[in-house]
Amino acid sequence: MRVIEKISDLKAVIRSQKLSGKIIGFVPTMGYLHEGHISLVKASKDENDFTIMSIFVNPTQFGPNEDFEKYPRDMARDSKMAEEAGVDIIFAPTREEMYPDSYKTYIEVEDITGVLCGKTRPGHFKGVTTVVAKLFNIVEPDKAYFGQKDAQQVIVIKKMVRDLNMNLEVVICPIIREYDGLAMSSRNSYLSTGERKAAVILSKSLFEAKELIKNGERDASKLIKYISERISTVDFAEIDYVEITDAENLEEVEMINGKVLIALAVRFGKTRLIDNVVVEV
Ligand code: AMP
Repeated sequence: MRVIEKISDLKAVIRSQKLSGKIIGFVPTMGYLHEGHISLVKASKDENDFTIMSIFVNPTQFGPNEDFEKYPRDMARDSKMAEEAGVDIIFAPTREEMYPDSYKTYIEVEDITGVLCGKTRPGHFKGVTTVVAKLFNIVEPDKAYFGQKDAQQVIVIKKMVRDLNMNLEVVICPIIREYDGLAMSSRNSYLSTGERKAAVILSKSLFEAKELIKNGERDASKLIKYISERISTVDFAEIDYVEITDAENLEEVEMINGKVLIALAVRFGKTRLIDNVVVEV
């Protein structure tokens, strides 16, 4: 496995891989790898000849008061995990390589970026779509792998790919969870022991809501109230949002019908966690 920092070096490798007919899979990440990331690598390896992972903590998707500086980074550990998982190349550009001083261009998907996480993280998705579009242009993958953990991100990226006629397939992989249900996240490393214990309420309340729907509950506001109340019973939790939307277009729903997304963001101390389930009736 090679670690490449320069865009020109990566492009040269990709050119030769493509010339020899290789199908390229791409897994974009911000590093501090866990089994969620590795599941994307596994999917890519199953479906492609050559797997590239990017590790780049993208400054443009962090707000001014967010955790860009303290976001966990450990390139030595990540390289080892990626190599063991069978990644062929890690692309780990510097900030200057991706955004030189003269940088001026941004990609923005409208409307669906203004709801859910977009409400409390203005500009976040503009940073995500910009970096992902740049990475797609650099890597030119046949398939790119994203986790359902970031449900809104997946919908926004799919929309960008469709709207801009990008020449690749976006593959969505299921959420990988800890033994107790907590969705794996690099940010879980911020949690104190008490916060970590409390955070299990996120997946628990989502699974309970799913069960309520299975048992016939269709009123979205009742389900939101149920989840919010469950979360409020634990220490540290401060709800950012709990929402139920159409799973495809992220429009709020009043009644559960068809495929819906139940999504939430909750702060435990300084750590903001997200989780979701998709339910189809
Ligand atoms: P990140 O490094 O957090 O930006 O995540 C990189 C990719 O891994 C994104 O497509 C995420 O959705 C995906 N991912 C993160 N956590 C998980 C998880 N627990 N299960 C599945 N995919 C995940």
